Amino acid sequence: MIRFEDILDKVESYRPDFDEELLQKAYIFSALAHRGQVRDSGEPYLVHPLNVAHILADLRLDETSIAVGLLHDVLEDTLTTKEKLQETFGDDVAELVDGVTKISRYAYVSKEEQQAETFRKMLLAMVSDLRVVLVKLADRLHNMRTLQYLPDEKRVSIAKETMEIYAPIANRLGMGRLKNELEDLSFRYLHSSEFEELQKSVNEKLAVSGELVGRIKETLGAKLKENEISGEVNGRVKSMFSIWTKLRRQEIDIGQLYDYVGFRIITASVKDCYAALGIIHQMWRPVPGRIKDYIAMPKPNFYQSLHTVVVAEKGQPFEVQIRTRDMDLIAEQGIAAHWKYKEGRIGATSDDKNFLWLRQLVEWQNEIKDPRIFMHSLKIDLYPDEVYTFTPKGDVFAFPRGAMPLDFAYRIHTDVGHHCVGARVNGKLVPLRTPLKNGDILEILTAPNQTPSREWVNMVVTSRARHKIRHWLNTEQKNRSTELGRKLIEKEAKKYRVQWRKLIAENALDGVLSEYGLARMDDLYADVGYGKVSPRSIVERFISEEQKETPSDEGVLQRAVRRIFPFTGATAIKVKGYDDLMTYLAKCCNPLPGERIIGYVTRGKGVAVHSANCPNVKNLMFNPDREIAVEWADQRQAQFQVELEILMEDRQGILARVVSTIANLKTNIRQMDSRTEDGKATAELVLEIADLKHLEKVTRSIADVDGVINVERKFNVRHATA
Ligand code: MN
Repeated sequence: MIRFEDILDKVESYRPDFDEELLQKAYIFSALAHRGQVRDSGEPYLVHPLNVAHILADLRLDETSIAVGLLHDVLEDTLTTKEKLQETFGDDVAELVDGVTKISRYAYVSKEEQQAETFRKMLLAMVSDLRVVLVKLADRLHNMRTLQYLPDEKRVSIAKETMEIYAPIANRLGMGRLKNELEDLSFRYLHSSEFEELQKSVNEKLAVSGELVGRIKETLGAKLKENEISGEVNGRVKSMFSIWTKLRRQEIDIGQLYDYVGFRIITASVKDCYAALGIIHQMWRPVPGRIKDYIAMPKPNFYQSLHTVVVAEKGQPFEVQIRTRDMDLIAEQGIAAHWKYKEGRIGATSDDKNFLWLRQLVEWQNEIKDPRIFMHSLKIDLYPDEVYTFTPKGDVFAFPRGAMPLDFAYRIHTDVGHHCVGARVNGKLVPLRTPLKNGDILEILTAPNQTPSREWVNMVVTSRARHKIRHWLNTEQKNRSTELGRKLIEKEAKKYRVQWRKLIAENALDGVLSEYGLARMDDLYADVGYGKVSPRSIVERFISEEQKETPSDEGVLQRAVRRIFPFTGATAIKVKGYDDLMTYLAKCCNPLPGERIIGYVTRGKGVAVHSANCPNVKNLMFNPDREIAVEWADQRQAQFQVELEILMEDRQGILARVVSTIANLKTNIRQMDSRTEDGKATAELVLEIADLKHLEKVTRSIADVDGVINVERKFNVRHATA
């Protein structure tokens, strides 16, 4: 139990010539006012103000704040009047106690209105005198610590309010330690079973890896000493709520979470911080992208520290925070440590940029009358690392900074994500790669034919979206490969008149499956479709000597089966007998109907159809097992894009003549680019070409233009696929 003397000792330790008389007077006043009152815990009421005062002394606040802590409930819960306080303690203390009391008093219609009003009052109090809010936070902390004595229903509503209002405000004021405790306590009452389960598993993990934690701590300490850096090393389990949030955000379970223990090095100087960081990176491999320099770039709530994640023995990652003693104090106590509370006013010195957000909020709250809107704009500013966006109906979705419309789409529904083609942000169409901003109103556009692509994986920032996209891609790739593998094997079987379906019906493949360590036929098909296993090697086992002698029945019929149909514009093309899903024109050469083509089984993407002249084909052919003979089928009215590079003399009007020659052949120019160098001009044209004959005609005609030196078709090797 806290005694009044403990508080006096504590204050004296950081303010040796404090006004002891004021505190004595406040203590006696409070004791008399609360005389006979009992808390829900059964203890005398005075225990509460004493604890609040003690928390304030922990924050090293001035004696006025501590006196207000002792007196904070006398207006609310006793017959004491503000005038009486004024008489006894002067205006300052009376105003502060009145301020604390006002924050708690409300009678509003809706929960949201009530919250908005609490926020409003907190904000106003912060600007008039920050100490009101600090006392209120200390009051809430002690109430949360003793919440177990309240009835169930009340616990939950107080915990919820703490989570939604008090913890974010503590966070915004940089009071890390108080925030963590408020969050952990709220978490315990809001999700009690999850809390207990998590605490149990963390303890179990710690029992297993506790030794490692101790060893890392020792190594860190020894290395610092060796390098003559004065630093104190601490290892601690992170807050339960932060672990829980992390597990949910990354959609992992506790078994997959490694950095639940964090190490902290407190040094004497900024120079030592960076030196310590260097030493750590020499000992252990840093995880890329996890080094953060909040010393050079402090957080908006004053927080300063170096963060890094390194990988220890057995591949276990852990986080290290490095900062000076001053920075540590600010990280723990935030504004309470930072700001000189002589006057108690925020923004008394206008050079303090860190208070701009607060002033802005106060201005807003005067303008905004709708409590819902006020709450939203407030949340925007209370969580600076998050982006708040809205559906057209006004639902709010929060994302980490850098989130894209796709993150939003997947947040709505998995199917909305899969079929997302674009988004309207604030009524305007935007590309999919447009970072979301606070207050954006999003409408997601979908199309039934749209499906996720590889690029999406790197575009999104939420783990939910990334997980859904990966899952879709993997399933899709597996399905394609299975389907392709089945067709390839069936073709091969047909070639040797092996009755494949009959073999399967007779379970003749069981031996092959177990040989490859596969469970199902589909797995074997998938391996063939991936090009891991050649269809030949499978079918071969079932070919009789007699069948071998009359092999490849590569007749006209057989050929027709492999013909492919080109289609305009679409990436999907048709292979007769195969399936339109499984072939596509290789991007590197965009083969034209009429020219010689080669099919190649790619890993997981089906059959890529290349021009036989494509430079990539030569490289591809290192694995002839994956080559498939393909042929063009029916010629249809189709247009293909072909890029030509034309080298010519740099003469007046020559380009115009080339262009009109092309136009005379009723050929469209999609794109044109030209440059000159050493008296020569080079033009790059993208033309719409129907087939090889058409291309030859165009090429010849251009070559015939006076002054043209060379015409060449360009293959885009950069986009090689296969
Ligand atoms: Mn209280």
